[in-house]
Amino acid sequence: MVRLVISADGPRAAGDWYDAFRCVAPELDVRSWYEPGVDIAHADYALVWEPTSDDLRRMGHLKAIICVGAGVNHLLHDPGFPVHVPLVRMGGEQTAALMADYVLWAALGLLRDARTWTVQQQRGVWKNNPVSRTCREARIGIMGMGHLGAYVARHLHHVGFSVAGWRRTARDVPGITVFTGTDALPDFLADLDILVDLLPSTHATRGIINHALLQHLPRGAGFINVGRGNHVIMDDLLRALDEGALGAAVLDVTEPEPLPPGHPLWRHERVTITPHVASQASYEAQARYVRDVIMQMERHERPALLCDPMRGY
Ligand code: NDP
Repeated sequence: MVRLVISADGPRAAGDWYDAFRCVAPELDVRSWYEPGVDIAHADYALVWEPTSDDLRRMGHLKAIICVGAGVNHLLHDPGFPVHVPLVRMGGEQTAALMADYVLWAALGLLRDARTWTVQQQRGVWKNNPVSRTCREARIGIMGMGHLGAYVARHLHHVGFSVAGWRRTARDVPGITVFTGTDALPDFLADLDILVDLLPSTHATRGIINHALLQHLPRGAGFINVGRGNHVIMDDLLRALDEGALGAAVLDVTEPEPLPPGHPLWRHERVTITPHVASQASYEAQARYVRDVIMQMERHERPALLCDPMRGY
């Protein structure tokens, strides 16, 4: 029997994981890391979020480590991480669909200037300020056209947005204009109404949302960050918002997380903050995805979302 040990989400989630796996993969031997007397040393697979290197060393026979997050930068940057063990990140239909819904919600909010309604409501102000523009007249650009970015792009395109994407390597997505590499960045940004960051956190993407980049956007464009908080140079973002270069921002990820009390972003009238909730699939959906990854690996097939430690994502 294939053995899966789970440390993700801590001891309190053990019951949720057991229920989910009993439902979708009763054939797996699933154990919580926190179960007294559990045989960790002979686990075949580990499902983790932020394990210590020591935890992983104790599971010496792993065929793969599966991360409950799509962002795995914290694991790859851990010097004790066993790089010889394949690392697979979270995916699956629900993870992508939740992200697509979030970005659609944020984009429509930016398009209609919904933040102003929130501020007016807080002040008890009734002021009619219609924005008469539909998503069919709006251009949205997605930085990062990977598993999630490509799905989000298709979703937005289907709804009616004019969608462009930006990625590292050339690969087409039907219906989407795709720009590739640093040289193409200014052209990608030049006519966007809304910019979405769905990049992973790597050496190359840290600080990528900075004054120089924001200058390429049309004045008053909106910004949605669902990638990682460390992509953004915070002073540059605040300056762009204050000067009107950026119209508004919706930030699901910040640096640090949680955002500390008193941080200027909390009270900024042009900023909407959500607490890293854009895409968190249900236990059952995650269990289904993990089951599929394990079945693929047992058949010696390569899972689609296998991380490349050299690439950093
Ligand atoms: P993928 O690895 O599938 O896609 C990453 C994309 O970014 C790829 O298109 C890749 O290009 C592109 N990319 C990476 N580095 C660069 C670079 N230097 N220049 C240009 N393009 C680059 O990741 P996912 O789509 O699964 O996830 C993306 C990120 O979303 C995660 O890393 C995580 O940070 C974030 N996330 C946030 C969540 C939330 O709730 N807020 C939930 C889940 C994920 P190429 O295709 O050429 O390789």
